[in-house]
Amino acid sequence: MKFGGTSVADLDRIRNVAMRVKREADAGNQVAVVVSAMSGATNQLVKWVNDLDPLHDPREYDVVVATGEQVTIGLLAIALGKLGVPARSWQGWQVPIRTDDAHGKARVDAIEGAALLADMDAGVVPVVAGFQGVADGERVSTLGRGGSDLSAVALAAALRADRCDIYTDVDGVYTTDPRIVKRARKLERISFEEMLELASVGAKVLQTRSVEVAMKHRVRVQVLSSFEDKPGTLVVDEDEIVEKLIVSGIAYSADDAKITVRRVADRPGVAAALFGALAEANINVDMIVQNVGADSTTDMTFTVGRADLPRTQDVLAGLKDALGYQSVLADPAVVKISAVGVGMRSHAGVAATMFKALSEKGINIQVISTSEIKVSVLVASDYKELAVRALHTAFGLDGPEPAAKDDDE
Ligand code: ADP
Ligand code: ASP
Ligand code: MG
Repeated sequence: MKFGGTSVADLDRIRNVAMRVKREADAGNQVAVVVSAMSGATNQLVKWVNDLDPLHDPREYDVVVATGEQVTIGLLAIALGKLGVPARSWQGWQVPIRTDDAHGKARVDAIEGAALLADMDAGVVPVVAGFQGVADGERVSTLGRGGSDLSAVALAAALRADRCDIYTDVDGVYTTDPRIVKRARKLERISFEEMLELASVGAKVLQTRSVEVAMKHRVRVQVLSSFEDKPGTLVVDEDEIVEKLIVSGIAYSADDAKITVRRVADRPGVAAALFGALAEANINVDMIVQNVGADSTTDMTFTVGRADLPRTQDVLAGLKDALGYQSVLADPAVVKISAVGVGMRSHAGVAATMFKALSEKGINIQVISTSEIKVSVLVASDYKELAVRALHTAFGLDGPEPAAKDDDE
């Protein structure tokens, strides 16, 4: 059972989580629990680090941002004890959850489950800190934002759990973020492939790598509500899905920044030098366009995570002499909107439908990228909600108007 930030946001909610864990234990299940930090806690920690030094040592970043989960594991273990459920907290290094040393976005290499299994056999519920592990050299590491999902899925695989239940503040995976589109529909099932693609383009409901690991190790994942008792969404193999839509979801990511390197030399080796240096600095590059050059120079546009923007600018500044470009323009006010669906493999025209829907709303497309089951566009961040709604409608995903409670924002 994994509980996200809003599910452990205060003591009442932690008591609610403890009740849910007790219920599973009372039903005769052996349970291991993973928790996130209280909602907002990690953001605050990240902000402190960045305010002090945007070019901080990533190992010290991890030391700071991993602390949010230490608070909630202790509190939940206490809350469980109060309900008469024996429980014990575990930090990542104590388990241990071993990771590589890509601090700030480490990969899980191995989890030694023996100590946890021994506790569970003795009737003690392990409460494991999400998001954190221990890197080579015994330093604290973190798994990237939203990484508690990965902790939970990787732990479920290591413990050979029957199920990995991801409890959150929505009751499942929807056709798009239900906070933006009121008429989003809940999916009973979604395929690993589609969930992976949706997560990788921004649907925060599950972290990307958690889906990757679930797919690889065949972990049965369910996304469900911490607050309501109803079935959630199951993430399953594609052949278990009956209703196949061309587009099954729309996602957005407001965490990217656009960089344009103006008038860089148009010759072999330039892209390799530029993107090689970024890779060396552990900066992930997402969309890339290179324009046809005139006068033997060209403009190169690409996106990176917004958190990596200062580091990217630093790397580019160091390449100025080698690459001889004219200038670097950075634009963080962009949002990437994506349509995802396995049906795209066999249907033409998805990109065209997308571009038409956006143009009808007067939304300019800055960058485009596609994969086998996805089309993504980069637009100005002001258009985020309008674009998501337009595409949700254009692909026939709108459900019925929800029963009126609050008015639209
Ligand atoms: P937690 O703190 O429990 O990990 P997150 O905030 O990381 O929760 O993820 C849940 C949020 O994901 C929801 O509140 C919702 O706004 C957002 N979300 C984005 N896309 C989707 C989607 N397609 N289906 C459901 N929720 C989504
Ligand atoms: N607390 C971490 C974060 O906010 C991990 C998580 O919530 O999954 O990113
Ligand atoms: Mg999350």
